[in-house]
Amino acid sequence: PASDEVLGIGALQTGYGAEPVLHGVALSVRAGQMAALLGANGAGKSTLMRSLAGLHRPVAGGIHLNGRELAGLGAEQIAALGLVLVPEGRQVFPELSVLDNLRLGAFLKPEGREARVEDMLERFPRLRERLHQRAGLLSGGEQQMLAIARGLMAQPQVLLLDEPSLGLAPKVIEDLFAALSRLRDERMTLLLVDQMAGLALSLADHAYVLESGRIVAQGSAAELLADGALMRAYLGE
Ligand code: ATP
Repeated sequence: PASDEVLGIGALQTGYGAEPVLHGVALSVRAGQMAALLGANGAGKSTLMRSLAGLHRPVAGGIHLNGRELAGLGAEQIAALGLVLVPEGRQVFPELSVLDNLRLGAFLKPEGREARVEDMLERFPRLRERLHQRAGLLSGGEQQMLAIARGLMAQPQVLLLDEPSLGLAPKVIEDLFAALSRLRDERMTLLLVDQMAGLALSLADHAYVLESGRIVAQGSAAELLADGALMRAYLGE
């Protein structure tokens, strides 16, 4: 692996029951870079993200974070080591306030928590306006911002983002990608899954295309973006 690899995945296989979904996936995310993972519905992107976060058990293969093997560890241990998933579907605690959702994100790293809350409110000003409201009352876009902010509260080494733009209006997607662009500029290490292939590639450094549980293309984001045939074949653009 490259010397600045933070997250490395090798020959990862998994599935549901006897049904294989990932057939030996390998990918690598370097320090301070954003990698995009693209592919059609059902390709296995969420399964991969959930496997990385310890929510789904790999059948074979390795997952390394800063050289340390993660496969077999539990979700909480993996999060504590710094691999943090913002799952698909804006999963906030609907009955809790925005503030309590943010604070919960820091439960494994409570020191400096309130300063991080302030950082999140500066990053996502809409959350400040809604600070004491129940998270379940937020708009879809606000809930997605909150889910990302809660993930950042854990001070991850690598933030895994699964379909953050799903179901959001174009203007909200624009705001979301502006927030992601800022994280990238700050050299947060990110692995992004998103159906908005063009937007994701415009931000990412490196990208992988997953098709039926296999990586079928990879390269710099600029190379993939310039490959019209690939964009049409796999990404529907
Ligand atoms: P999408 O963009 O639609 O979420 P994806 O690329 O994230 O697609 P996955 O959700 O990982 O794909 O699904 C990959 C395959 O695994 C699909 O065939 C799906 O039907 C199957 N699958 C996903 N979750 C389960 C589950 N809990 N039990 C059984 N099969 C599942």
